[in-house]
Amino acid sequence: MSHSIRRGFAEAIGNTPLIRLNRFSDLTGCEILGKAEFMNPGGSVKDRAARAIIEDAERSGRLKPGGTVVEGTAGNTGIGLAHVCNARGYRCVIVMPDNQSAEKYQLIEALGAEVLRVKAVPYSDPNHYQKIARRLADEIPGAIWANQFDNTANRDAHEQTTGPEIWAQTGGRIDAFVAAAGTGGTLGGISRYLKRENPKILTVLADPQGSSLYHWVRYGELKQIGPASITEGIGIGRVTANLEGAPLDDALHITDVECVRTVYQLLREEGLFLGSTSGVNVAAAVQLAQRLGPGHTIVTILCDSGAKYQSRLFNRKWLSEKGLLEAAGLTQQVQPASITTETPRDLDGYQRLSA
Ligand code: PMP
Repeated sequence: MSHSIRRGFAEAIGNTPLIRLNRFSDLTGCEILGKAEFMNPGGSVKDRAARAIIEDAERSGRLKPGGTVVEGTAGNTGIGLAHVCNARGYRCVIVMPDNQSAEKYQLIEALGAEVLRVKAVPYSDPNHYQKIARRLADEIPGAIWANQFDNTANRDAHEQTTGPEIWAQTGGRIDAFVAAAGTGGTLGGISRYLKRENPKILTVLADPQGSSLYHWVRYGELKQIGPASITEGIGIGRVTANLEGAPLDDALHITDVECVRTVYQLLREEGLFLGSTSGVNVAAAVQLAQRLGPGHTIVTILCDSGAKYQSRLFNRKWLSEKGLLEAAGLTQQVQPASITTETPRDLDGYQRLSA
C-alpha cells in the first residue's frame, strides 16, 4: 500500500499546502505564505480541533462507542465535529446562535448533525449558546461537551501539527506568524510551537474590529475597539484557556473595509476564493510586511473557502447594505469588454449585432 494513502476522514486532516501569495509577495517584497487550511476534508482549519477534541475524549475514556458529542459553535467546528462523528459512529448535537449565515445551518444539518438554533445573546447570559451546549451535554447520557474555547486539546492540535508543518514547509525560514483568534487554538498552539523553535519569530494577533483582544495584547486589558464586525468565527471579548499564555509580540487591528478589500483581491488577483477570516489574516500579513520591510517571510492561515458566505460576503446587495461595496471594488458598472466610453470605430458592428 502506498504511504500516501490516508486512512479515513481523520487521517486526511492536516498536511495542507503552504501557498505563496504571489501578488501580495511581489508588491511587498516579502514572502507572504498562506497555510491552506480550507483544503482540509471538512473545509476549514477547525477540522484539526474537532479531531483532537474527539481523540482526547476517547483516550481519557469520557467518550465511548455510540456516545454523543455536543458543542456550541458558530459553524466550522460543528462541520468538523459532524464529519468526525459520522466517521466514528457518534451522535453529534450542535447548538448555534441564530445570527449566522444560512449556508452554515444547512450544511451542518445536511451532514446529519442535530442543530439547535438559539437566540444570539451576550456571553454573560445563561442562555448563551455555549452554556446551553454544556447543559445539554450534562443531560444526555454518554455525551461529552467539546468545549472548543477552553478545552486545550484544541490548542495542542496546532502545537503538534500545524506549527511543525509550517516549520518544515519553510525549512525554519520564517520571520513572523500572524493570525486571528476565535477560540485562540490556532494562534495559541502555533505561536507556542514556533517560539520554542526560534524565539525571534514574531507572533502577532490579527484582530477584527469589534473584538477586545487587540487592546488586551497591546495594553494588557480587554477593551472592545470599533463597531461589531461582519467576520464570523473570530474576534472575542474574553481570554480563553486556549489563548491564555500564548507568547504574542503584537496585535494588528483590521477593519471590515480592509478585510473585504483583501478577500476580493485574494479572489481576483490570487485566484483564491476564501472567507472573511482569511481576509483579516492576509490584510494583517500585508501590513506586517510593510512594517518589517522587504526580505521577510510571513506566514498566515487561509481558514476556509468563500462557499459558505455567498449570501453575505459575496452578495452585492448585502455588501451594499453594510457600506462595503466600494471596499469590494464592485461599485463600477460592469460592461462587456468591447464597449468602452471612447466608442471605437468598430462599435457600429457590435450595435447591429446586439440590436
Ligand atoms: N476562521 C474561521 C473561518 C473559523 O471558523 C475560526 C474558528 N471559529 C477561526 C478562523 C479561528 O480559529 P480558532 O478558533 O482556532 O481561533
